[in-house]
Amino acid sequence: MAQSSLFIHELPSRRWQDELADLITDPQQLLQLLQLNPEQLPSVRAAGEAFALRVPRSFIRRMQPGNPQDPLLLQILPGAPELVASPGYGADPLEEAAANPLPGVVHKYHGRLLLIVAGQCAVNCRYCFRRAFPYAENHLGRTQWDSAITYIRSQTKLREVILSGGDPLVVNDRQLHWLSNQLASIPQLDKLRVHTRLPIVAPSRITNALLDWLCGTRLKPILVIHCNHANEIDTEVHAALQKLRNAGVTLLNQAVLLKGINDSEEALMSLSESLFASGVLPYYLHQLDRVQGAAHFEVSDQRARQLIAAIRNQLPGYLVPRLVREIPAEGAKSPL
Ligand SMILES: *Cc1c(COP(=O)(O)O)cnc(C)c1O
Ligand code: SF4
Repeated sequence: MAQSSLFIHELPSRRWQDELADLITDPQQLLQLLQLNPEQLPSVRAAGEAFALRVPRSFIRRMQPGNPQDPLLLQILPGAPELVASPGYGADPLEEAAANPLPGVVHKYHGRLLLIVAGQCAVNCRYCFRRAFPYAENHLGRTQWDSAITYIRSQTKLREVILSGGDPLVVNDRQLHWLSNQLASIPQLDKLRVHTRLPIVAPSRITNALLDWLCGTRLKPILVIHCNHANEIDTEVHAALQKLRNAGVTLLNQAVLLKGINDSEEALMSLSESLFASGVLPYYLHQLDRVQGAAHFEVSDQRARQLIAAIRNQLPGYLVPRLVREIPAEGAKSPL
């Protein structure tokens, strides 16, 4: 009896775990899968040493074979430009180390804080501002979890806890349940927010069990996904987002403005429309954080403002994301 019910429980969740265990991390394999020129292999390998290649197969399937400029490929393929040191670009551009009251907690804004639930992601985005974040120091053991919960309980002005990372949804459901039950027992909280890229890069993660977790406490669930280009939303991603939406989860998107990937009116408009068709509203369009190795993705502020002005003239207001930059020590994202 016990055995068969365990089996039934384990079966649906195994697929996402298998998928995350089967990521592509070998540059040669990626170039072969996409029929790309192997000449760039040495520079891909060199850049991958500082920050490894890591990408789920399902994300690769949405790329166009033979196209070195594919907007999804450019987000994840290590390359020579990353090795160029750029003045003004650092290891901790957001100075998060200074806003870490205890391991795993980043409390910079009024009424909400980030809980670093996982150090890893399913994908390594080349422009990631956390490329150099000291995750090892923020990997929490049980005692540290208890301290984080005690800290949250003591902060009477908090309304919302944001599970972040890394990607919080790489954590298993049992641990997520423990965490949400702890948070739901803290009376001043009324929202639970999750910042995750998994619904995009590994949509099999959106299981019924995950919905039970997300919608299973008194806290209002908000999921902020991270999608930069309309090509990232295929039928499987669409179905996962619909599922979340139908379960009553508020869905928002944050994107990063990236040169050569989404820095055109057409790309940004089609991103907003595709998100909306899947039940997601655009929330933030971030100016790149100046992390070492990402300078080649930067779009000037002037160009960024032009792009937003242009899409504002063509789309309804709710499809225009807020263009922001994160400035260390500011109490909120700063509008441009
Ligand atoms: C971005 C961020 C938040 C969330 O900000 P919102 O404007 O509420 O989306 C909270 N805490 C930190 C440290 C952040 O960087
Ligand atoms: S999913 Fe987000 S946190 Fe993870 S590597 Fe990409 S940008 Fe960074």
